[in-house]
Amino acid sequence: MKNLYLIIFGLTFYYSYPQYEGFSQLGWEKQLEIEESFQGLIDKTSFKKHLMKLTERPHVVGSEGNEEVIRYIGKVMKEAGLKITNYPYDVYLPNKPGSSLVEIVTPSRKVLNQKEDIIYDDPFTQNSELWKGWNAFSGSGDVTAEIVYANYGLKEDFETLKSLGIDIKGKIVIARYGGNFRGYKAKFAEANGAAGLIIYTDPKDSGFTKGLVYPDGPYYNSSTIQRGSLLTTSFTGDPLTPFEPALPLDGKKKIKRLDPKDAQLHTIPVTPISYGEAEKILSQMKGQPVPQSWQGGLPFTYRIEGGSSLSVRLKVEQKIDFVRATNVIGMLKGSENPNEWIILGCHLDSWGYGATDPSSGTAMLLGLSETLGKLKENGHSPKRSILIAHWDAEEHGVIGSTEWVEQMRDELNAKGVVYMNFDGAVSGKGFGASSAPTLKKLLVETSKNVKYPYTDQTLFEFWNKNGQSEEPPIGNLGGGSDHIAFYMHVGVPSLNGGAGGPNLYHSNYDSFRFYEKFVDPEFQMGPMVEHMAGLMTLRMANAELIPYNLNRYSQDLKMHFENATNKINSYDNNFEGFLDTDDAIKSLEETSKILTSKIKSYLEEDDISKENIKKFNEQLIALEKSFISDKGMYFGAWYKSIYASSDPFSGYGAWILPGLEYEIALKSSERLKEWDSRYSDAINSLESKMKNLIQEIN
Ligand SMILES: [Zn+2]
Repeated sequence: MKNLYLIIFGLTFYYSYPQYEGFSQLGWEKQLEIEESFQGLIDKTSFKKHLMKLTERPHVVGSEGNEEVIRYIGKVMKEAGLKITNYPYDVYLPNKPGSSLVEIVTPSRKVLNQKEDIIYDDPFTQNSELWKGWNAFSGSGDVTAEIVYANYGLKEDFETLKSLGIDIKGKIVIARYGGNFRGYKAKFAEANGAAGLIIYTDPKDSGFTKGLVYPDGPYYNSSTIQRGSLLTTSFTGDPLTPFEPALPLDGKKKIKRLDPKDAQLHTIPVTPISYGEAEKILSQMKGQPVPQSWQGGLPFTYRIEGGSSLSVRLKVEQKIDFVRATNVIGMLKGSENPNEWIILGCHLDSWGYGATDPSSGTAMLLGLSETLGKLKENGHSPKRSILIAHWDAEEHGVIGSTEWVEQMRDELNAKGVVYMNFDGAVSGKGFGASSAPTLKKLLVETSKNVKYPYTDQTLFEFWNKNGQSEEPPIGNLGGGSDHIAFYMHVGVPSLNGGAGGPNLYHSNYDSFRFYEKFVDPEFQMGPMVEHMAGLMTLRMANAELIPYNLNRYSQDLKMHFENATNKINSYDNNFEGFLDTDDAIKSLEETSKILTSKIKSYLEEDDISKENIKKFNEQLIALEKSFISDKGMYFGAWYKSIYASSDPFSGYGAWILPGLEYEIALKSSERLKEWDSRYSDAINSLESKMKNLIQEIN
């Protein structure tokens, strides 16, 4: 009975949906059948089973626990019918905390705790394989000094300290997590002459002021520590091999590596602590009160300086060396267009058990591999090849995926249709996504065909809560995960999406136990995200022509150039705008409309040749490359996309039109003319590729 109900419900649910672009009418009807049978094949127990297995042990890159995870992922995908390839690299990184000490020296000695408390009825917290809190890529050193509080350690925060006349030279800075990538806190502290840096999570950002703390709730308790990397080079990936893959040292192909002393690594000691321990320092500080916005959630007035009576010792000895990192990639070969790649990924390494980050995404992708494998057995091979990638060494600086992109650069230029990132993609009950312009419609339309659990809503209705606009909020792609090299270095259109919520980010408490108690006790979000990811994959894989939403380029470009112009006008009244670029966008708008309608009518013709389809798809893949510039960005030539980059002053944030954002950050007008011509050239080149397509389709 139940099944029959589902089938009938499923059918009406589906056939009420209009044709998705890239498909002919016939192709779309066939696609809807495939999607329905895909949905029926999802094993709702598989997510929990994989998550449990993946999170048995802590699995930092290069550890025994990680080797086990790598083997497990390969085995599951192989059994599902995918062809497995492992991609090894030797990466220069610290994969153990080494030794460290944080001690209040005066007025009275106290060594601070650097590890989460054991919780008596939570066996995960008792594992001896768990390490203390640490920040990878800390410098080594042993310093004793006075304390200065620097809020979030943002660029602006250090400027504020300067303007208040506070000299941090030779002092130990204490800063709270949040607001930027932690590596920048270290970079700015070091640049301003600090002797060391202590980072802690303030209860105002995650802790008792947000809600119940672990093990009673999902927020940080007074011993919870955020781990994480500090790497801040002017490129992404292995610090010794910018632009090149860090292939194994003992391999046939030799890669030229930088001398570690020329790599852009921090030299001051840095370590993280919990708010329970930070309180012991902060509560003894004696200087002037902080600006109001710097006040955190501990129950006293925060001060900027500790004064001479309070001294703290910070010692870190951390060894950096070559560590083997291994990506595992499973492939389902396309039946018609095997040289067009739909790539999905999530990293596999974590700081502890990594139940939410990253393993919830890994478990979802393993379930998806199995479902796609069964779908293939049922006679529905994807037309394009599907690659499911599990990246290593992401936590140390998005390294495994970046090395792979650098290794496969030429192939990706020709074959990379899309990259979809699912880092920790089932970490709660909320839903969010960020995306390249051409993929936003894919996200929106697909979410209308997915049911959100715990309600009778579709994912679209749940996601678009306000219901005021046609589209739920979709963010811009920033830094912080494995889409970076795909999107910002080689120009493969990318998206990042999944379920999120409060979690015990990068701490020893992010375990299966925590997941089961607070993230999703009924394990229904995993199959939901798998359904969503699967439908997006199948639409990208099976559409006759690659279903990029081409009209979106001009729409988004217009908005971003307006924003940039307003920002520039706030410091330069005389700036008249990007006149060449405005013209180029207007013209692009017309051309993309024509191309979209041409494609639609072309797909309904009876005598479409396979050669033509292949040729047009090649040209569609080439469109996004219009934004890839050899010269790259002034803040780092590795960032080749002039469309998007991560924010080089904060790390996590997204910079759309990064060429302009950099000038804006410097409050400069000097290179705006140059950028007007670089952007208009790129947009004109995009348009001329579209015009070629229009001609050939005619
Ligand atoms: Zn992650």
